Amino acid sequence: MNIAIIGGGIGGLATAITLLKHGFNVQVYERAQALRPIGAGLTLTPNGLNTLNAIQPGLVESLKQAGSQMNTLILKRSTGEIIASKPLTALEHYGQPLLNIQWSRLQAILASLLPSDIIHLNHQCIGFEQHESSVETHFENGKTIQSDLLIGADGINSVVRQKLIGDGSPLYAGRMSWRAVIQYPHPLLTPNLATLITAADGKNFLLVDVGEGYTFWSAGALLADDSVCQRATDAKARVLEIFAEWADPVEAIIQATPADEIVERPICDRTPLQRWSEGRVTLLGDAAHPVVPSLGQGANTAFEDAYELAECLSLAPSIEAALDAYERHRIPRTEVIYIRSANQGNRSYKPESETTLQEMMKSSQMNQNEFEEWLYSYKPSENRKFVI
Ligand SMILES: Cc1cc2nc3c(=O)[nH]c(=O)nc-3n(C[C@H](O)[C@H](O)[C@H](O)COP(=O)(O)OP(=O)(O)OC[C@H]3O[C@@H](n4cnc5c(N)ncnc54)[C@H](O)[C@@H]3O)c2cc1C
Repeated sequence: MNIAIIGGGIGGLATAITLLKHGFNVQVYERAQALRPIGAGLTLTPNGLNTLNAIQPGLVESLKQAGSQMNTLILKRSTGEIIASKPLTALEHYGQPLLNIQWSRLQAILASLLPSDIIHLNHQCIGFEQHESSVETHFENGKTIQSDLLIGADGINSVVRQKLIGDGSPLYAGRMSWRAVIQYPHPLLTPNLATLITAADGKNFLLVDVGEGYTFWSAGALLADDSVCQRATDAKARVLEIFAEWADPVEAIIQATPADEIVERPICDRTPLQRWSEGRVTLLGDAAHPVVPSLGQGANTAFEDAYELAECLSLAPSIEAALDAYERHRIPRTEVIYIRSANQGNRSYKPESETTLQEMMKSSQMNQNEFEEWLYSYKPSENRKFVI
């Protein structure tokens, strides 16, 4: 089977790796001209790491070398006062840690596992047409390709989803985000630590050790207007103004970050869909189920999608049956994660955010424990029985 994947992000690359291992002929089409570093870090959780382990044994070890295993989470006020501190025990509990890593390191490690000639850069998909026994996909550079199956892994603003479902733009969650990855040695930024700083006026700031001497900072603030600044210097001035006078190292780390390395983006999601596929076309990762980043599950669930889609395609008697099984298994789980992410995201920016975040850190809160148990205990190999 010839499979075309639109999007060389982390979901598309993980999908290509697992499909190749199943013996499919795979090509990845990415609009960017190069896979280059972007200012982001992310947390890989046990469900995502166990899935990556199933996709490619040894991969998790490479990621652990490049990233940083988070062992403590500290919650603070904007004045710098510590509200709570929590030792993180995911490794003991689920056999995998909470692993923080630079987004671009993760992408590069995934790309290194693929033959370079299957990743086609500078290929921006602009549409497709389905025929009885193939899909014809068109690119802005004038090229057209034929495949047996098309997978839209082209992110939250997916062109494939627009053509397939046509449900318009993502929904703004009322919060703007700014983020960057920077080398910034500071006594409060110790290895294996994440610090979440919250304020009652709808602002949060996260500082995370992402390994190799880098810190990922991510700021979020309630803003009615979802438009981003046209100039990098204006975005930096805006985030500096919003977080002015926050205790060390918040203001200082923003100040130290070059303006053109700060990514300003509205936080968005989309209402869950009942179907992700039609005919020979399906969706995966943020293209299928984008969530606000409050639980850090977007990439982790994209890996789960990748693994299960490949399993379904290799076991089912037809593309239709495979896509049907893929959806049956993935949609209910991602819907729960969507609801939980949306609720947690909203509550974290309310005036009572301090209490909310503190409650979420307490191990006595059964709901949170049960949810984490369900989320992190996901084991890809145990799902085979659901496939057909
Ligand atoms: C602030 C923030 C923090 C986050 N933290 C975490 C976290 O801790 N843990 C976690 O699991 N997730 C996190 N996420 C979410 C995570 O980054 C996404 O869920 C994940 O990147 C989705 O992967 P994807 O491959 O589906 O989409 P993307 O990563 O968006 O990749 C899509 C790719 O498709 C390409 N593309 C787009 N359109 C086209 C086109 N028309 N033609 C060809 N190529 C195209 C893009 O260039 C891109 O390379 C966070 C997100 C944000 C915003």
